[in-house]
Parts: sequence; C-alpha cells; structure tokens
Amino acid sequence: DKEKVNPENLDGYSKKHYPLCMRHMHEILRSTHHLKHRCRLQYGLFIKGIGVLYEDAMEYWKKEFTKTMDHEKFEKQYAYEFKHQYGKVGSMINYSPYSCIKIIMENVGPGDHHGCPYKHWDPSITKQKMIEQGLSSEGVNSVMEMVTSGHYQIACSRYFECTQGQAPSVVVSHPNQYFSDSMNLFK
Ligand code: SF4
Repeated sequence: DKEKVNPENLDGYSKKHYPLCMRHMHEILRSTHHLKHRCRLQYGLFIKGIGVLYEDAMEYWKKEFTKTMDHEKFEKQYAYEFKHQYGKVGSMINYSPYSCIKIIMENVGPGDHHGCPYKHWDPSITKQKMIEQGLSSEGVNSVMEMVTSGHYQIACSRYFECTQGQAPSVVVSHPNQYFSDSMNLFK
C-alpha cells in the first residue's frame, strides 16, 4: 500500500523525486503562493496520487494561498475546488491524477505553468532549467535530442536517468509513476 505523504516533505521531494512538470509547478506555488486553475488540477491531483491525504491537502493549499489572500477569500473561491479533487463535493467522483498523454495534450498559453515542459516550453528554457539544476552537458544534450524529435516521455525518462543515476522501470507515462520509481530507488 502507498504510504501517506506529509505535505511538509514536498519541498524536499520536489527536488529529488518530481518530474520536471511537477517540480516547476511546485516552485511556482511556493514562490507566488498561487496557481491557476489548470495547474491546481494537474498539481493537486498529482499530490493526491503520491499520498497526500484529503485533510492534509486542504491545510496545505490553505496555508499557501492565504499568504497572499485572507481565509474568507480562500474558503469562498478555492476551497471547493480542492475538495472536489478528492471527491468530497459535487458529483463526488474520486478523480485520478493526469497521465503524461493527457498533460501533453493540454492547451498551454503564455503565462501558464501547467503542461509538459518538454512539449510546451521554449526548448532554450528547458535547457537552461536543466543546466541550473546541475545536469551534465551530456545529460542535457541527451534530453534535448528527444525534445527536438518530439519524444517527450523519452526526454522525461532521460531526465530521470541523468538525475537519479539509473533509468526508470519503464518509459515515463505518468508523473506519479515517475515519482514512485524515484522513491523506490531511495528505499
Ligand atoms: Fe511530466 Fe510526463 Fe512531461 Fe514528464 S513526460 S514532464 S511526467 S508530463
């Protein structure tokens, strides 16, 4: 069974075990204390999928969002959506985290932070990001080769390999699979 994840660990996990898409949204959340709707869905369902429980998630989002807004506004405008992700309101559907294909097919406009970096970012930004994160130039090139040829999930698998020292169990097809493969390496 999946272990429960304490949201306090997400800063650490994001650096060590997240694929680039989720790491980016986590950094945006922590630096701006906000995420737009599509990000809230993509990232919210991801953290639900890695094992953040409902009550902990509600606390987490509230704590972050209320750094820039009051509690009332959070409760009025945002709480419902996070409850919805856990199937606690509305149609009570227990939503699943998005797969890579679904994320890659997303519409991503300027100023949006959801989506798949390999597909949606300007390649020079992706490259720069990986250099900042300390990937070797050989590693960066091997990822970028797949970006240029449109093989985004293979690009992601190569990023995994460069950062974790070994390939994921299979080609990345789901951000939550990326996370559990990475966590398993450190058990
Ligand atoms: Fe995220 Fe999947 Fe893109 Fe990797 S391939 S960055 S896990 S959407």
